[in-house]
Amino acid sequence: MDKRILYENLLNYVYEGMYFVDVDRKITFWNQGAERITGYKAEEVVGSYCYDNILNHVDEKGNKLCFGGCPLHATIKDGKNRDAHVYLQHKSGSRINVKVRTTPIIENGKNIGAVELFIEEVDKFAEFFELVELREIAYRDQLTGLPNRRFLDENLMYQMEMARKLDVSVGIAFIDIDFFKKVNDTYGHLMGDETLKVLAKTLTKGLRTSDIVGRWGGEEFILILPNSDSISLEVLCEKLRMLVENSSVDRSNTDLKITISIGATIMRKSDTLESIINRADCLLYESKENGRNRVTIR
Ligand code: GH3
Ligand code: MG
Ligand code: MG
Repeated sequence: MDKRILYENLLNYVYEGMYFVDVDRKITFWNQGAERITGYKAEEVVGSYCYDNILNHVDEKGNKLCFGGCPLHATIKDGKNRDAHVYLQHKSGSRINVKVRTTPIIENGKNIGAVELFIEEVDKFAEFFELVELREIAYRDQLTGLPNRRFLDENLMYQMEMARKLDVSVGIAFIDIDFFKKVNDTYGHLMGDETLKVLAKTLTKGLRTSDIVGRWGGEEFILILPNSDSISLEVLCEKLRMLVENSSVDRSNTDLKITISIGATIMRKSDTLESIINRADCLLYESKENGRNRVTIR
């Protein structure tokens, strides 16, 4: 077999994209990898010049490499290998991030051209970021930025399991704003939303790092306090109640103040997710019945 054909066949098997240019940067060979990565067939490219800018290479800063900074050009000139990260344009128009290696072709001590080997760069974090973004959407309450109900459910389940394993306990508190309908009616729904955001901040500030607060829904929040007994649970709930009572939601325009009622309880051995939340909810109801702006813990 003609050596040249043999090499071409071999190079077509290379997974990477590969093309050859002569000293004038005329493209003389374009392998199947290059076809796959760029979308251009060999017959569309071979015979044209690298600086015809078919691939429209740019670097990270958007500099057009065909008009300065082309690694292939530099390699032809000085005979040195180069590694670069560039973006080329796929036939469809999309930009592809590729890692490029250029190598001179030397014959009888003379540069007669260069080879460019290129491979798509896999963005190894893309999947991770996608996951994080999904997690964000799945687990964060959009209004307050706090963990949402799904997160609270999953976290409470986990904390209860851990508490059982480590033979410690976990406390939870159900928090509901008092007369919140009146806030909306008097100040408008937007101010109501603002109130929820401010409350979320106040609640967050009052916590230890291991404590979790999230929005259960509407104007209801849940606290999860890992490794906590009823005394520390009560102290914390009282502190939060007092902090809210003594803060203003919107000092500049209105004198809007709110209070919260809390029902709090410590996990029992027989508790399930539902039973512990129900108990906290019932205790919250007692706080409401007994005049609001108070903590009931049992
Ligand atoms: P109570 O002291 O008994 O809790 O009285 P309340 O007025 O707070 O009564 P309830 O808890 O039943 O009312 C909750 C109100 O919260 C009803 C709803 O309009 C309001 N609300 C729920 N979610 C939102 C929200 O995202 N934004 C605003 N602005 N209001 C909300
Ligand atoms: Mg409510
Ligand atoms: Mg309420």
